Amino acid sequence: RDSRQLGRPLPENPGGQDAKNLRVKLVLLGDSGVGKSCIVLRFVRGQFDPTSKVTVGASFLSQTIALQDSTTVKFEIWDTAGQERYAALAPLYYRGAAVAVIVYDITSPESFSKAQYWVKELQKHGSPDIVMALVGNKADLHEKREVAFQDGTEYAEKNGMFFIETSAKTADNINELFEDFVDYATSKLPPDVL
Ligand code: GDP
Repeated sequence: RDSRQLGRPLPENPGGQDAKNLRVKLVLLGDSGVGKSCIVLRFVRGQFDPTSKVTVGASFLSQTIALQDSTTVKFEIWDTAGQERYAALAPLYYRGAAVAVIVYDITSPESFSKAQYWVKELQKHGSPDIVMALVGNKADLHEKREVAFQDGTEYAEKNGMFFIETSAKTADNINELFEDFVDYATSKLPPDVL
């Protein structure tokens, strides 16, 4: 059995003999309104439904994907649903998270600044091995774009982060976000963590 997990030891491997099962605690951070809930719902349920947002308390969803080499990855996705503004709660929320997805809205420079705030916060207080993705969402809103693709890429590169632009509305790059980010994270984390 080869049971692997990003971050902490996995107690039981529910998979078969040759299965490699990763379990990944993933926290979502970013300004309110950038599309965090919509990204998760698109990924987990394949829907774009802005009305089914959880407005009070942190929400939790999980989704398992199969990678090409028969590895399965179970994402435990933590969406703060607005609680991140209570700064005192934030460390509780991202403790033990192996990966963090920090989202901004490409039409909002303020949300891009806020994303950079979260990156610094995680660099200071997150787990030392944490692997981060920077996500520019609402990429379908071309005419309203105010954050250049280049700005996102450069910031991510400088901070050793994965970068992608997505649209929860059109589903563009949503699966790629999770699949490619896992590849990226497994290549970045030291072997003893896996
Ligand atoms: P959260 O506060 O970060 O969880 O944001 P939500 O997921 O609630 O989304 C906020 C608003 O942005 C909703 O009205 C969504 O319809 C809209 N939205 C989310 N993702 C997209 C997207 O990719 N494209 C467009 N055009 N709108 C989006």
